[in-house]
Amino acid sequence: MSDYFLEAGTGCGFTVQKGDFMFIKDVEGEQVADVVFYTAADKEERFDPTVTMDASHSYATGKGSILYSNIYRPLATVVEDTVEQHDLLNSACRPEMYEFLYGEPLHRSCFENLNEALRPFGIPAPHQHYPWNVFMNTVVGSHGSLTVERPRSRRGDFVVVRAEVDLIVAVSACPCSESACNGFHCTPIAVSVSPTL
Ligand SMILES: [Zn+2]
Repeated sequence: MSDYFLEAGTGCGFTVQKGDFMFIKDVEGEQVADVVFYTAADKEERFDPTVTMDASHSYATGKGSILYSNIYRPLATVVEDTVEQHDLLNSACRPEMYEFLYGEPLHRSCFENLNEALRPFGIPAPHQHYPWNVFMNTVVGSHGSLTVERPRSRRGDFVVVRAEVDLIVAVSACPCSESACNGFHCTPIAVSVSPTL
């Protein structure tokens, strides 16, 4: 079993073997974790939220959801979920977003956290990351309006996914404290990988 403790606003990368389980825990509550997956066999094949929405006919994820790659292969299955409110619609926060929204281009970002976490595995920085945003509470309103509200996750809430192929995974504890995305306060995320539930 491998454990990774992400201090507030930081990221990490690791491998998950086919059949192993990855636990993602919100340590204090109201904290989003941006998660990206690449296949170990082909680093061009990666998690794709738009394919996942197409294949599952839904923008919701929860227990039983399958997370698909850009070529419609199942990469992972959600097997436990104490929150059932996550996001597939938003790309990773990045320096340009912080400049656009808050006038803070030097802000730490999930884009940079994920890039740094993936670099040791030989995965080059993409133009942008499109993660599974665990615990992110994006509310779709009438006429398609989008509002990011405080996560529903509380202290100790978690999701567990089972890897369906050998994966390289990166996780970022989102460093945005300017909005309700992380309850206006960034806190840690705990990750563990285990061959058993
Ligand atoms: Zn972020």
